[in-house]
Amino acid sequence: MAISGLVGKLDVKKDPDALLRLFSVTAMVSIVIILLLAGFGFREGLERFVESAAEEDATSISSALLSEERDKIIAPYADGGSYMHIDPADLPRLDQHLRQFLAPFGIVKIKIYSNDCRIIYSTETGIIGMTNLNNKRLNHALTGVADSKFEKKEDVHDLAKEQRLAVDVVETYIPVKDKQNKVIGCFEIYQDVTSTWTIFKNSIALLVGILFLILMVAFGLSFIVIRKATRSVREIQQAIRKQAITDPLTGLLNKRQILHTAGTEFARARRRREKGMPDAEVAFIMVDIDQFKEVNDRYGHLAGDHLLKEVSDRISTSLRGFDAVGRFGGDEFLIILPNTNLDEACLVARKIWMLVREEPFVLEGDQVRGTVSIGVATSQAGDTSYTDAMKRADDGLYRAKSGGRDRIGEQAEVLGT
Ligand code: GH3
Ligand code: MG
Repeated sequence: MAISGLVGKLDVKKDPDALLRLFSVTAMVSIVIILLLAGFGFREGLERFVESAAEEDATSISSALLSEERDKIIAPYADGGSYMHIDPADLPRLDQHLRQFLAPFGIVKIKIYSNDCRIIYSTETGIIGMTNLNNKRLNHALTGVADSKFEKKEDVHDLAKEQRLAVDVVETYIPVKDKQNKVIGCFEIYQDVTSTWTIFKNSIALLVGILFLILMVAFGLSFIVIRKATRSVREIQQAIRKQAITDPLTGLLNKRQILHTAGTEFARARRRREKGMPDAEVAFIMVDIDQFKEVNDRYGHLAGDHLLKEVSDRISTSLRGFDAVGRFGGDEFLIILPNTNLDEACLVARKIWMLVREEPFVLEGDQVRGTVSIGVATSQAGDTSYTDAMKRADDGLYRAKSGGRDRIGEQAEVLGT
């Protein structure tokens, strides 16, 4: 929902930028997911690596310890078997020896269990003699399988009895077996891996940072390429849309578009009339250049084109921003004036008529006087379609032509020049 909101309605045909927005959102979400997965993956992998390295060390340490202190830790049964046992009288010497022995290996704590989960030795002397029956990992190790786990300890006392805070340790349970390969107890060894883990953590941060930069560069380059493509698509779309509605010679609306505007404005005026609102009229002005064929015949088609362009420019300058003008036929123009009554429309028509006739056109170096005939009409209460009003404007134009040209034909009468 949030993503669809960011992307907006995805209609690439109508809005090529939607593609760019979709790409940006997808890329950002992907980058975040990739970085999270990569960071998590690196971390998991390195944790397993630290655990297995520590487990190997713990196995070597425990077997070295056993070979040195076997007869002080393991006692024989009469039947040839053996069990984990430490004579309380041996404890002080054993404790001192173990601390010396373990100090170089970065070990912060060690416990020795008998196979009934009783602690027969610990560097935390206060817990010797306690049993830990519910310890799952201890019970797992007592089945004969080493078990190690990486974790962060908030507060640890090391072998020198010094308090250490926020220490990364690997806690490993190593089973102890007798000569008959029977599990008779277990070592629990806590190894301090803080320095190794700090290096790994920094490496993970560096790798994720590099990955982020690579992804951002890849995303940035793709963004630039897609933005360029969407811009040119938008420009092409705009050009096509413009082409579809404009007349290429004059730049005015083409016949289809001006008739579409006529329909829209007529419907708007009719709605206003039905609601009894003011300005419920739309005016239609038809303009036709007088004797245009003669211009073509005398000065050529290109000069005729030039005149058409000049006349359309003069018409455009006579109009308000919300009026519309289109090329209706060869030398004929249709103007639509929204919210305009007949008097106002006649004023506009007169302005156009004046603008065309007062300033000569320059064709092939000649100053040529041009005139237009104009028909004016407005929409009326009984009209069912814009064509009714346009027909009256066309009639007005016809009367202006038949009345001698160079004049304005209003709905029912002809205004003299
Ligand atoms: P009237 O006063 O009765 O309007 O006479 P007219 O000579 O202007 O006759 P009419 O309006 O019927 O003819 C329009 C002419 O415009 C016919 C055609 O050759 C010419 N024409 C149409 N389109 C173009 C165009 O794009 N360029 C040029 N140069 N001439 C065109
Ligand atoms: Mg004409």
